[in-house]
Amino acid sequence: MTLFNIDDTLKQLGIQNINNGTSTGVKNFSNGNILESFSPVDGKLIASVKTTSKSDYETVMATATKAFKTWQLMPAPQRGDIVRQFGDKLREKKEALGKLVSYEMGKSYQEGLGEVQEMIDICDFAVGLSRQLHGLTMHSERPGHRMYEQYHPLGVVGIISAFNFPVAVWSWNTALAWVCGDVCVWKPSEKTPLCGIACQNIIAEVLKENNLPEGISCLINGDYKVGEFMTKDVRIPLVSATGSTRMGKIVAKEVAGRLGKTLLELGGNNAIIVTPDADIKMTVIGAVFGAVGTAGQRCTSTRRLIIHTSIYNKVKQAIVDAYKQIKIGNPLDQTNHVGPLIDKAAVNMYKDALTKVEQEGGTILVEGEVLSGSGYESGCYVKPAIAEAENSFEIVQHETFAPILYLLKYEGGVENAIEIQNGVAQGLSSAIMTNNLREAEHFLSHAGSDCGIANVNIGTSGAEIGGAFGGEKETGGGRESGSDAWKVYMRRQTNTINYTTKLPLAQGIKFNL
Ligand code: NAD
Repeated sequence: MTLFNIDDTLKQLGIQNINNGTSTGVKNFSNGNILESFSPVDGKLIASVKTTSKSDYETVMATATKAFKTWQLMPAPQRGDIVRQFGDKLREKKEALGKLVSYEMGKSYQEGLGEVQEMIDICDFAVGLSRQLHGLTMHSERPGHRMYEQYHPLGVVGIISAFNFPVAVWSWNTALAWVCGDVCVWKPSEKTPLCGIACQNIIAEVLKENNLPEGISCLINGDYKVGEFMTKDVRIPLVSATGSTRMGKIVAKEVAGRLGKTLLELGGNNAIIVTPDADIKMTVIGAVFGAVGTAGQRCTSTRRLIIHTSIYNKVKQAIVDAYKQIKIGNPLDQTNHVGPLIDKAAVNMYKDALTKVEQEGGTILVEGEVLSGSGYESGCYVKPAIAEAENSFEIVQHETFAPILYLLKYEGGVENAIEIQNGVAQGLSSAIMTNNLREAEHFLSHAGSDCGIANVNIGTSGAEIGGAFGGEKETGGGRESGSDAWKVYMRRQTNTINYTTKLPLAQGIKFNL
């Protein structure tokens, strides 16, 4: 069942079949290979895209490098105004882009719209930020001297993004990088190339209307080999990479090898602690949405529930009952809760994980299944599953990007639950459900959660753009979006000015000539 006309949507977003997946904004060129984008919703081919060849990449970099010379000199509030216009265009295209996100990636239409809303929100944030790229003034130890620090643009920022947030992650990076005076080259996931082209078309329109160089925003398409063009390129001082920990380890090594900077947003293994003082109704809503929303394909998806033994059976029953109400199907149909996984490889990983948890001694509470028949032709729809497990199981220690929830027990005080929650290699998102102030504060203290995100009485999944987003340990340590995340897109310079006729040295050193 197709609930909308994909051809109309592609037309509204300026996407033609066999589109050039390489773009500096308006030019059409590419001699790369063909990349086909299939929808996990119905298995149909949406469109084909040409991937970026090395010589295309060189053209893109030449255009970006040239554009940087102009863009960095434009006052930051004026750059902010371009981002404002981009946000306005996104408001106009919200429905079409939200539909494409849903159809190409498989998340619900509501979540597709939510992603575009996140793009609009970060544009608004970046507009304000464009007047607040503050440095500090320090007191000099030398008389008649002034010392301060300022932030300058970095240059060409490389952005590599994952399939599961095919548009928002780019905008988190690029809206900030643009107001900071950088230009961006983006390689979206090879699983969602059309979302990349749609975004590029929208910003290209804004740049054209303002007679600005097209190279301020550049797009390259293809798999990891195209990503490697950027990680190996000394002309790119910062590579922001979102995706698996496996990818992050390779990218970090490559970029560090040339002493470049990375901003890494990698895998999570997120848990909710449920204490005896938890509100069970809220817990069930938070846990079920966290585990099955986006078919478990959010970096912040809830993978583990750590439940106190005294309420274990009650919580278990309530969650298992809630799973009975879940409707799985076309994500563009708003009555469904769960759409498809991204592709058949993801389905195989889901199946493997369920086999492994049983092999390791886990108990399946809600059986998994790959759905077939009418409406499930793509072969990518699976039933969300629940298993009772131990935190030490190898499979529990890993992020499986699918709707599988592990129930774990703890005894005694909240510190025991925190030890389990921190006892994994990843450190992205965490939550506690409790009405007990002591437990909540303990969880948020330095003896508490070791994650980049720690929530009280809301789940692990989803985040607002106002806070810095990211995580510790194997999640990579990067921070994007709000707070002072902008600083990574700029280089800091310390300036000392002597307004006297003498030249005193620091630390009182004398040097008489
Ligand atoms: P992935 O690692 O397979 O791919 C991500 C991107 O990296 C793609 O564009 C891919 O082409 C590129 N890439 C892969 N290897 C590369 C290499 N050697 N050099 C350069 N580029 C390379 O991830 P995915 O399957 O698309 O996304 C799912 C993963 O992303 C999950 O682990 C999820 O937790 C993570 N994720 C994290 C965040 C976060 O903010 N922490 C957000 C979204 C997704």
